Amino acid sequence: MSETIFTKIINKEIPADILYEDELALAFKDISPRAPIHFLVIPKKPIATINDIGEEDREVVGHLSWVAAKVVSELGEAEQGFRTVMNCNEFGGQTVYHIHLHVLAGKPLGWPPYTEKLKELE
Ligand code: 5GP
Repeated sequence: MSETIFTKIINKEIPADILYEDELALAFKDISPRAPIHFLVIPKKPIATINDIGEEDREVVGHLSWVAAKVVSELGEAEQGFRTVMNCNEFGGQTVYHIHLHVLAGKPLGWPPYTEKLKELE
C-alpha cells in the first residue's frame, strides 16, 4: 500500500500528540477532534482498510482495543463511557488509508455518526 500521513507520524517525521506507544501500536490525539477527547489508535504495521486485515493481523488488531481502553482509563473516562469506531472505505467515511480506531469520549455521543461528506453520497 502507499504511504499515508500516519506512517510519517509513526516514524516521527511529523509531530503528533502521542498518548501511548509500544512495539505494535501508537495512540495520538486526532488533529480535528469531534469530541472533548478524540484520539486514534493505529497499528505500526500499515494495513489500508478493515478489508485488508489478514489472519496474521489478529493479534495486532485486537491489541488496538486494549490500547484504546487503557488510554481512556488513564484519562479517567472509562466509567462514564466512550465510543470506538473504525471507518472503512468511502461509504464508511474513511479518509486515511491506514486502519485506525477512533476513540471518542468526554460527552454523550449521538448515534449514528454522520458527516456532511457522507450526506453527499446518499
Ligand atoms: P477517517 O476519516 O479516515 O476515519 O479518520 C481520519 C482521521 O485522521 C480524521 O479524524 C482526521 O482528523 C485525522 N487526521 C488526518 N490527518 C491527521 C494528522 O496529520 N494528524 C492527526 N493527529 N490526525 C490526523
